[in-house]
Amino acid sequence: METNPQDLHNYSSYIVHYGEIALKKGNRTIFEDMLVRNIRTSVGKKRSCEIRRLQGRIYIELAEPCNGNMMLGELSRVFGVANISAALRAEPSLDAIRNAVQNLIDKKSFSSFAVRTRRAQKTFPLSSQKVNEEIGAMVQKISQAKVDLEDPEMTVSIEILDRHVFVFTDNKKGLGGLPVGISGKVLCLISGGIDSPVAAWRAMKRGCLPFYVHFHSAPFTSAASQEKVVEIVEHLMKGQPGTRLVTVPFGPVQQKIVVAVPSQYRIIIYRRFMVRIAEMIARQERAQALVTGEALSQVASQTLSNLATIEAVSGVPILRPLVGMDKQEIVDEAKRIGTYDVAIIPHDDCCSFLMPRNPVTRTTPEEVEKVEKNLDVEGLVQMGLEAKEIRDM
Ligand code: ATP
Ligand code: MG
Repeated sequence: METNPQDLHNYSSYIVHYGEIALKKGNRTIFEDMLVRNIRTSVGKKRSCEIRRLQGRIYIELAEPCNGNMMLGELSRVFGVANISAALRAEPSLDAIRNAVQNLIDKKSFSSFAVRTRRAQKTFPLSSQKVNEEIGAMVQKISQAKVDLEDPEMTVSIEILDRHVFVFTDNKKGLGGLPVGISGKVLCLISGGIDSPVAAWRAMKRGCLPFYVHFHSAPFTSAASQEKVVEIVEHLMKGQPGTRLVTVPFGPVQQKIVVAVPSQYRIIIYRRFMVRIAEMIARQERAQALVTGEALSQVASQTLSNLATIEAVSGVPILRPLVGMDKQEIVDEAKRIGTYDVAIIPHDDCCSFLMPRNPVTRTTPEEVEKVEKNLDVEGLVQMGLEAKEIRDM
């Protein structure tokens, strides 16, 4: 249960808990190491601190205490974190625990409470239950509040480990999911619209380390549209390891397509070229899949048969994390993750460039291959690749 942390001044110890249910033994170390690494990237660069695995948790000790709310905010944006607490650290003895709890509840007002002790160190002389009773009696005496194990206003948590005991009252919920990087690298096709940032987010949540490709039709589309994509990627990567954005000028490729193929096929063929170019970029960077914001809908580019025609040119899997979502769910998620406001700023979509009114909604790969006979497919892919620009962020 999340309790809303209030006024957490000057804490130097933090305990990160993560979901461990699905973790098998061997995977667990990899998971924990990756999480430690990502936490270090997120909070460790700005501050001098020690971050380590500690008996099924991650323990962060800052050299200088800092505002707990700020630390919890930063840590809650790291994928794989289930919840975080700002804690006081004590020696493993009942007296030390008493002292720490006294300090912890000092100045806090509450009318009901519970004490919950977990013991990862079974040689500690008292059972968890006994610690609950001892500390509960003390808290009751100091605060005059009543014990309520069902729905307490405040919970005092005590975690007894080998060499340390941590006590804390609040915890902030994290994003959950898997640490970014643990599932491998993917290339996300990012358009500047609402959907693709949500798709990238979902891929990250399942442990993918994303980098990004954006196709633009400058000078036919504005520079502001590209800046928008940069802003979205920056936002997505807050709290995550660094990334790379590849931008590909697509206008010259589109111009060749426009003169060589019947207009109703343009959108599908644009998409096939995006996928071909993206696959090459993915291979260069050793990414194992592409990620798109495609869902199933009745727009021409997203009917099942057209998705199949687009996918037919890809030699790497295409992940579509949004496939089972409806538009409102995607919009809600975009708002929650903070990409919506930027995404709805009007922009020029490179695919609406020279678009006909009635694109085909039903195609087969064979049919489209015939149409593409009029094009130098290899040459156009190379043209796109050679003109690409890279921005590390
Ligand atoms: P979005 O909201 O992400 O733009 P959409 O609902 O508008 O998606 P489409 O325009 O059909 O749908 O695009 C489907 C997917 O193709 C996008 O989610 C994105 O992954 C990819 N895509 C489309 N245009 C571009 C582009 N200019 N650069 C990179 N990827 C693109
Ligand atoms: Mg779009």
